Amino acid sequence: MNEAAIFAEDVKKYYTVKVGFRKKAEIKAVDGISLIVREGESHCIVGESGSGKTTVSKLVLGLEPPTSGTLKFFGEDLKEILVDKNKLRAFRKSVQAVFQDPYSSLNPRKTIKEILEKPFKVHQIDYNSSIIESLLQDVGMVPPQAFLDRYVHQISGGQRQRVCIARALALKPKIVTLDEPTAALDVTIKAQILNLLIDLKSKYNLTYVIISHELPLLKGIADKITVMYAGKVIEQGPAKNIFSKPHHPYTIGLLESIPPPDPKTAKEKPLPVMEGEPPSPVNPPPGCRFHTRCPFATDVCRKEEPKLSEVEKEHFTACFHLRNVVQ
Ligand code: ATP
Ligand code: SF4
Repeated sequence: MNEAAIFAEDVKKYYTVKVGFRKKAEIKAVDGISLIVREGESHCIVGESGSGKTTVSKLVLGLEPPTSGTLKFFGEDLKEILVDKNKLRAFRKSVQAVFQDPYSSLNPRKTIKEILEKPFKVHQIDYNSSIIESLLQDVGMVPPQAFLDRYVHQISGGQRQRVCIARALALKPKIVTLDEPTAALDVTIKAQILNLLIDLKSKYNLTYVIISHELPLLKGIADKITVMYAGKVIEQGPAKNIFSKPHHPYTIGLLESIPPPDPKTAKEKPLPVMEGEPPSPVNPPPGCRFHTRCPFATDVCRKEEPKLSEVEKEHFTACFHLRNVVQ
């Protein structure tokens, strides 16, 4: 089995926020998640808005330390990486990110060439024009020379995301986090970008952490899936199991949800089959956090919290009533 690129055990991330005069509240954005991302794997973290996915990606990028729990990268504890200048520099080089909105994550005053040169300059690494051109070539922007002197507003949305991907790959990272990498794109472009990511994963020997609220879209790219709800992991396992036999009612709901026709408005629209809203992260309901929306909920669900248990090899689900849910 491949080495664990990322190892997370009981990781929590709480934020303290002001909620009035002299009053504070704790937001449990991530509330005790565990996961292992093996080297070369595409690990997708899915859930609705507010489930804690982006917070997980910030933790993986080392942008914020966990409130508690253990987070390791290739066996090295993030706490130790964050306090050691040399380790942190190597870490920043080897863990890169692609964000949802390519337009806002690219500097409109820089040319594509300047954007792709920046990582080399920041990390004081030698580069030449053929390295920049081959990055563009690898993300399908051909001929590369035609794009070098263009500005962000002179290329399409899909091409902008290709530039973001090229920039993330510039320093040959080991891990790339992709936070809703296709959410801002049209349906046909989404598929092209996902196919490109699949090709680049093997070409560059990458490990992906993909954050998304569109579970059905991840079918071709996911190896493992972690489903989050209100800061907790409620189902986790090999993608083929989750797609062929999801066990948790929430995962089933996510799979049945069809993204709205215009993906640009996807985030604003509620999922069609999942009724109700996710609970507040300040005051999550007792028991199973999904009980306020679950058609299978009984008294025990309202009082006790279900623990993750193995339902098939490496496939875990947290639900008291699996027999009723999975028939
Ligand atoms: P989205 O898709 O909307 O980004 P998400 O699943 O990625 O949702 P997060 O962004 O991780 O969810 O947020 C989880 C919860 O933590 C939300 O209630 C959010 O408001 C809260 N949160 C995230 N970051 C902070 C912060 N820096 N300070 C306070 N609360 C935060
Ligand atoms: Fe639904 Fe109860 Fe299972 Fe939670 S534990 S998902 S409320 S049946």
